Amino acid sequence: MSGAAAAARETGARLARAEPLNATLHWSQELLDAEAARVDGAAAPGPLGGMPIAVKDNIVTVEQPTTCGSRILEGYVSPYTATAVERLRAAGAMVAAKTNLDEFAMGSSTEHSAFGRVKHPLDPVRVPGGSSGGSAALVAAGVVPAALGSETGGSVRQPASFCGVVGVKPSYGRVSRYGLVAFGSSLDCISVFGRTVDDAARVLSAMSGSDPLDATTLDRPPMELSDTLGDLQGITVGLPKEYYPADLDPGVAAALRRTQNLLRDLGAELREVALPNSAYAVPTYYIVAPAEAAANLARYDGVRYGRRRVGGDGDIRGLYQATRGEGFGAEVRRRILVGTYVLSSGYYEAYYRKAQQVRALIADDFRRAFASGVDLLLTPTTPTPAFRAGEKTEDPVAMYLADIFVSAVSLAGLPALSLPAGRSEGLPVGAQLIAPFFEEPRLLAAAGALERVLSAEAEVR
Ligand code: GLN
Repeated sequence: MSGAAAAARETGARLARAEPLNATLHWSQELLDAEAARVDGAAAPGPLGGMPIAVKDNIVTVEQPTTCGSRILEGYVSPYTATAVERLRAAGAMVAAKTNLDEFAMGSSTEHSAFGRVKHPLDPVRVPGGSSGGSAALVAAGVVPAALGSETGGSVRQPASFCGVVGVKPSYGRVSRYGLVAFGSSLDCISVFGRTVDDAARVLSAMSGSDPLDATTLDRPPMELSDTLGDLQGITVGLPKEYYPADLDPGVAAALRRTQNLLRDLGAELREVALPNSAYAVPTYYIVAPAEAAANLARYDGVRYGRRRVGGDGDIRGLYQATRGEGFGAEVRRRILVGTYVLSSGYYEAYYRKAQQVRALIADDFRRAFASGVDLLLTPTTPTPAFRAGEKTEDPVAMYLADIFVSAVSLAGLPALSLPAGRSEGLPVGAQLIAPFFEEPRLLAAAGALERVLSAEAEVR
């Protein structure tokens, strides 16, 4: 048996053992074997040489259905495959599975999937974070070395932090969105989970670069594989004071202090900076993202995609009401209502326009911090470790606050990652590094250097 064929078999066995996590929506040994045959038939193994990669189920592939975790896409199979997935395949990767997610990527716990919640691999009563919880759980459980997720406002960094894996959100426009089902088009980024910084960097490098099929990709050469052996001597790391509140979980605070000390030991200079408008990031995000979502989700009308239900008098209104009323879950309906409201005549100025202005102020804060001589920023990724299932489902605002340290970066379009930085009462804690626009190589090099010393250290407690 070839290396790829054996890897496909082993991956299938691990996927089968991981079923209790409910992290996958579609996978089959047959498709995995076909992926291995394709890798074996290629002229060269490619930089990813047979690496099995799981793909969030809001990224389209022709071989599997794409559900977005929603009933409304029941039976939908895309006629094309996302550019990012095509590029990974061309680089020698095998698509292993499509993964579970919060419906249309709206959520922070993967409890809003129409196909049941994903369990945290270390503690099944807890959530893996979201919305890319299925991808995060599979990497954390050792099923695949890397997985694709998507970020609109933290959906890879936050679950990476909860699950104890690396999660990288690239700069907006670094990776093609062609084939990523649209949520908030000015925010959406295909992003990556890795067991290590190196795994994530290799995947990101293989899928990055401009794409004629996505006009928002930047016309710059693909990202070169960063030197993950880079050293931190002489770099300046900013600590934004707004991201270290007094009521931060003590285990999270301890892990961040330790990360700061390691950075100092590695030769970095640490300096406090201010990002005052980040305080408004969550409310701003939860206006901008639902507004864009309300527009993007108008296409699910019972005519063109997936489920079709006829209701009312059997007229067009009845078709829309029955299809959308039954097809969308409660959180998606809430977003469409909020988004429609903030865009409506009379409220547009007060909410949507205001949010866009605050978004510009949030981005300016980052620009100012980096212009003051700071190379990178360090913050906690999340205010607490993974919470319990059911803890926040009745209170949308509590759920939204799980994004408090990740939303601002998304609004600013910057690259950032979450790196496992220790444990709090047995649960993983993530440290977030943020870089200036298009400085992923700097981000990954610093994370690689930090990863080596962190993994050599004992757990926080
Ligand atoms: N938790 C955020 C939301 O629910 C982020 C989602 C995402 O990044 N896809 O909108």
